[in-house]
Amino acid sequence: MRKIFIAGNWKMNNGLDATKTLLEALKPLVADIKNVDIAVAPTYTSLAVAGELLKNSNIALSAQNISWADSGAFTGEIPAAMLKEAGCTHAIIGHSERRAMFGETNESVAKRCRKALDVDLTPIVCIGESLEEREAGKTMNVVLSQLTESLASVKANEADRVVIAYEPVWAIGTGKTASPEQAQEVHAAIRAKLGELFGTDVAEKMRIQYGGSVKPTNAKELLSQKDIDGALVGGASLKADSFKGIIDAAVEVSA
Ligand code: PEP
Repeated sequence: MRKIFIAGNWKMNNGLDATKTLLEALKPLVADIKNVDIAVAPTYTSLAVAGELLKNSNIALSAQNISWADSGAFTGEIPAAMLKEAGCTHAIIGHSERRAMFGETNESVAKRCRKALDVDLTPIVCIGESLEEREAGKTMNVVLSQLTESLASVKANEADRVVIAYEPVWAIGTGKTASPEQAQEVHAAIRAKLGELFGTDVAEKMRIQYGGSVKPTNAKELLSQKDIDGALVGGASLKADSFKGIIDAAVEVSA
């Protein structure tokens, strides 16, 4: 059984005050939950304060990216050691917004993923097709080649530490969700490819999150699909009650 993993990607939202307010509201709401893994990914400047607030809690802290380098002339990048110092245990890598707007490539994702594994941070590696690619019937080709290339630096004996987030770009922040069947079809193909890359036993252990307009109202149906092991949540993670609603759906599905 794969433990469901719900992660909130706060993107470029929530300064220090808002981070404190949201986490102080969320912590007691989820404090008793044991059968679902939970994480939040604040902006870099809020990580340290979030790390303090989340000490000894059941909410893990994720960065929204990670440098492949350790130090030096890499303006704007943040190295793993500083993320860990702030309390991070996870790092989102290759989010479609970074791929589309900031030149992130499968190659750079693979380097960042390697670094995360080397320092014992859990990488959440994002992949997903655009609307044009879906309409042109290229979804599987695009998603599976992103997967293969983004995981090029991962060895079979460590692959189960990697979390995959399948996020169809057309469903992110648009209110359009992939139907549970559409999502399951891609998740099953991802798991089959993970089996080819790392062996079926390893693939069975790996968690594949779905992301794209997940809300309390659609979470249960999505999370009930055989190969959907969690959610990467943007907009609905910015309010304690809506994020909790998604976590509640995960608790129900896990029971
Ligand atoms: C995301 O940022 O990864 C995401 C899925 O956003 P939203 O839930 O707002 O679509």
